Amino acid sequence: MEYPNHGALFPGGGDAKRPDPSAQSSVDDLRHIIDRQNLVLQTLLVLMIEKGLIQESEFDEWLKHHDGLDGHKDGKLRPSASPRHCSKCDRMNSPTAVKCTYCDAEFQNLYLDPRLRDRS
Ligand SMILES: [Zn+2]
Repeated sequence: MEYPNHGALFPGGGDAKRPDPSAQSSVDDLRHIIDRQNLVLQTLLVLMIEKGLIQESEFDEWLKHHDGLDGHKDGKLRPSASPRHCSKCDRMNSPTAVKCTYCDAEFQNLYLDPRLRDRS
């Protein structure tokens, strides 16, 4: 049986096995960013341990605690997807805003560890 050419779904001529070059480029860009962040985080952790600022077991404890701050203990910390409401000017801001775009009021850090929040 011959299958129809789904040119509308696969602009590259209907070959579903051929990756979209722009999608592959985006994946490569994201992989580069993740690899870079992995390097920076690994360096920071080793530096903190080498300088005696923290022990690896203590870091693991903090990591487990922060894992649950977004409501899911899944080894990730996802930013909120909900727009942020400014109680000062009553306008909505992007989910990742740290201060109001309209009136500069600072938003409370959603993921700030309560132990740190109590110090300020
Ligand atoms: Zn505001």
